Amino acid sequence: MTLKSLIRTIPHYPKEGVQFRDVTTLMKNPEGFRRAIDLLGERYRDQGIRIVAGIESRGFIVGAALAHHLGAGFVPIRKKGKLPAPVIHEDYELEYGLDRIEVHVDAIGKGERVLLVDDLIATGGTAEAALKLIGTLGGVVVETAFLVDLPDLGGRRRLEALGHKVFTLTEFE
Ligand code: IMP
Repeated sequence: MTLKSLIRTIPHYPKEGVQFRDVTTLMKNPEGFRRAIDLLGERYRDQGIRIVAGIESRGFIVGAALAHHLGAGFVPIRKKGKLPAPVIHEDYELEYGLDRIEVHVDAIGKGERVLLVDDLIATGGTAEAALKLIGTLGGVVVETAFLVDLPDLGGRRRLEALGHKVFTLTEFE
C-alpha cells in the first residue's frame, strides 16, 4: 500500500476538466493517515519547530496531528471573516477573482520557528499568501509541507523561487 494509492481522483470536480485529488480517502485509512503523519513527524522531529501553521481546511487536519506528534503548537490560517480576534490578511489570486486568508496578529511571535502545512499544492498561490502572513508576524518558516504536489501547476517552483523550502509526500502529474 502506497500513500498515493490511497488518494482518490474525482474527475471533473469542482468543474469540467479538473481532476480533483481527494485526500479524505487517505485520511480515513488508519495505516495511511498514521504513516503520512509519522513520515512528516520524523522529518521535522529535531528541527526546533514551535508552531505548525495549517491552511483551512484540510491543512488543519494534517497540521493538528503533526503538531501533536512534534509537541508543537497549532495555528490556523483561515478564510476571511472566521477568526475572532484581530487579524492580518493577505489577498491572493484565484482563477477568477481574489480570495483572502487571515491569521491572528498574536498567533506567531518574532523568531518563532514555524512549519507551514496544507493537504495539496497546485499553483502555490495559497501557500505564498500564507508564507507572507507568517513572515509579516516575524515567524521563521523552516519548510512548507504538503501531502500532494501537482508539479504541472508549478507551485513548488514558485515557492522555491522565493527562497522557501518545499517538501511533499506524493505527486500526481
Ligand atoms: P493553489 O493555491 O493553487 O496551490 O491551490 C491549493 C489550495 O487549493 C489548497 O488549499 C488545496 O486544498 C486546494 N486544492 C486545489 N486543488 C486541489 C485538489 O485537487 N485536491 C484537493 N485540494 C485542492
